[in-house]
Amino acid sequence: MSKKQQAIEFLNRNRHLFQCPVCSNTFLGVQEGSFVCKEGHSFDVAKKGSLHFLLKPSKNDYGKEMLRSRFAIAQDGLFNGILDEIYPFIQHHTGVTLDIGCGEGSHLDYLHGKGLQGTKIGFDISKEAIQLAAAHFTAAFWCVADLAQSPFASHSYDTLLNIFSPSNYDEFSRLLKPGGQVVKVIPGEYHLYELRQALYHGDQEKDAYSNELVFKKFKEHYPDAEIKPVRYTFALNGEQTKHLLEMTPLSWNASQEKIDAVLASGLEEITVDAVILMGNKQE
Ligand SMILES: [Zn+2]
Repeated sequence: MSKKQQAIEFLNRNRHLFQCPVCSNTFLGVQEGSFVCKEGHSFDVAKKGSLHFLLKPSKNDYGKEMLRSRFAIAQDGLFNGILDEIYPFIQHHTGVTLDIGCGEGSHLDYLHGKGLQGTKIGFDISKEAIQLAAAHFTAAFWCVADLAQSPFASHSYDTLLNIFSPSNYDEFSRLLKPGGQVVKVIPGEYHLYELRQALYHGDQEKDAYSNELVFKKFKEHYPDAEIKPVRYTFALNGEQTKHLLEMTPLSWNASQEKIDAVLASGLEEITVDAVILMGNKQE
């Protein structure tokens, strides 16, 4: 069965998980290759099986080069230590998992590979990211969507993953089933420390992350939140140093001189420092 055919079957079987981003009505199913709502708004299923729900083109800063670099270094395992910590918390919570801001799909694919059961949907506002996900991974149904005009149905999701990606807590509440959970990952104080040192040494504002506000806001929405820090180092070869530089927005404001210096000398290792926030929607 082609990827497109699989996607059509998925949508017909799971149309209750979606709502029309134009009129919020339910979807009737796929007709002649398009996912059609009750009011007749329609969205074409792409050849690779992904779906484009954006009503207007999005501007985002994720170029193809950046996404390919993130894909490559994710495949090499840069984020696996974080995902290995998340897995025990979500593995018994099967049902429907939605990865919010899934990028090129590596995280959801890895969790699927570890044995995460149930229905999985990944979405991102970047069309290029979803094209990469749909080309490489069959772990989930992939779509281009905007959290601010979300095509997902209310109270339909058991687990929301939100890994290094913006949140919208009102929308999270609408999407979650009662008792459903949110797993959010934010950078810790020492995230990519070696790279920040190399690019911004001596520049206080740029070389420290502060996540206190994010923290506080999460606690307001999920008072029983569990917080789990995770920190490890990841050895880098020259190619991986290049991918790391291309992947992270950290290099956007750095001088070319410093970037060239990092490329020339390489980084031996990089610190991954993250904080995992886990909260349950009150029943
Ligand atoms: Zn509609």
